[in-house]
Amino acid sequence: ASHLTRVFDVSEPWLNRVIEGKPRRSLRAVDDIDFVVPRGGCLSLVGESGCGKSTVARLVTGLYSPSAGELRFAPGKGGKPLAAQMIFQDPYASLNPRWRVDAIIAEPLRELRLRDSEAAISARVAELLTTVGLSPTDGRKYPHEFSGGQRQRISIARALAGEPEFLICDEPTSALDVSVQAQILNLMRELQDKMGLTYLFISHDLSVVRHMSDRIAVMYLGRIVEEAPTEVLFATPRHPYTQLLLETIPNVRAPHRDRAVKGGEVPSPVNPPSGCTFHPRCPLADGRCKAERPAVLSWPDGSRTACHRVEEANGAPAGAAAGGA
Ligand code: SF4
Ligand code: MG
Repeated sequence: ASHLTRVFDVSEPWLNRVIEGKPRRSLRAVDDIDFVVPRGGCLSLVGESGCGKSTVARLVTGLYSPSAGELRFAPGKGGKPLAAQMIFQDPYASLNPRWRVDAIIAEPLRELRLRDSEAAISARVAELLTTVGLSPTDGRKYPHEFSGGQRQRISIARALAGEPEFLICDEPTSALDVSVQAQILNLMRELQDKMGLTYLFISHDLSVVRHMSDRIAVMYLGRIVEEAPTEVLFATPRHPYTQLLLETIPNVRAPHRDRAVKGGEVPSPVNPPSGCTFHPRCPLADGRCKAERPAVLSWPDGSRTACHRVEEANGAPAGAAAGGA
C-alpha cells in the first residue's frame, strides 16, 4: 500500500485543556483535518504560529488524543505496529541535560530492548552518532557542550535509535541559523533516502519545506485551507492564504503580489472569525465568506482548496472547472 496513513478526519470539536503548560479554556484546536502521508514520502504542514500544526503533530504521535475522528496507521515492517518518533524544535529542551549523549541515545535501545548487551548498545550508539555526522567520542559529552545544530543531530540520532519508519518533525530547524538549517535539512533528506523513512514535517516556512516535501498542507486556524503536490502548490497556489505565504518568499512568482493583503495578527483560535476564518485578512472576502464556511474542492492536478472565491483568486472567471468536493 502506498499510503502510510490516512491520518485524520477530526470533524467534531475536541477539547484541548492544556496548551504549552498553561490551563486554558477548551477550544477547537484543529477541526476537520484530513490528510494522507505517503509511505516513504514527506507531507508538510505549514502555517503561522497558532494554526494548529503542532497540535496535529502531537495528535499523530499520541501525545494528545482527539475527542472525535480517527487516525489510521498502515502496518509497519513485518506487519508490526508502525514505529513513530518525534523530533522537536528545541533539541535542548528535549535532551536531558544531566545525561551524557551516549546515555541519551542508548535510552530507546534499552527501553525497546533493541540490543541485548552493553557492548552491542555501545556499538549501536557509536554507529548512530556517525550516521548523523558526529563522532563516536561525542557520546562522552553532555548536551550543553554542543552547538544548536549538533544538538539537533543528537536528537535525530536518539529518534533513529528507536528504529522508526515514521518521523514527526515539529519545526526541527527553526531555532537554527540559516546555514545550519540547510545542513540539518540535507541530513534529514539523506536519512530518508537511505532508510526509506516517512516524514510528517511541520514548519511555519514554505521555503524550508519546499525541497523536503512531496505534498504540502497549508493550515489556518485549525483547518487545512489548501493541500497539494509541492510543485503544484508553488506553481499554482490557489488559496488567498497560500498566496499570502508565498509573497513573503523572494523569487517565487505569486499571482497577486500587487494586491493589498491585510496582514496583522492571526485571530485567536478561542474565538475564531465566522464563516471562512481567513476573511478578516483576505482581500477577496465578501458577505458569503463572513457567513459560510467554505467546502473543500478537489482539482484535477491533485490539489484541494477550501475557498468560496478560489476562481477569482486565480484570475479565472467564476465557475471555472474544479472537480467534485
Ligand atoms: Fe478569502 Fe472568502 Fe476564500 Fe476565505 S472563502 S479565502 S475570505 S475569498
Ligand atoms: Mg508550534
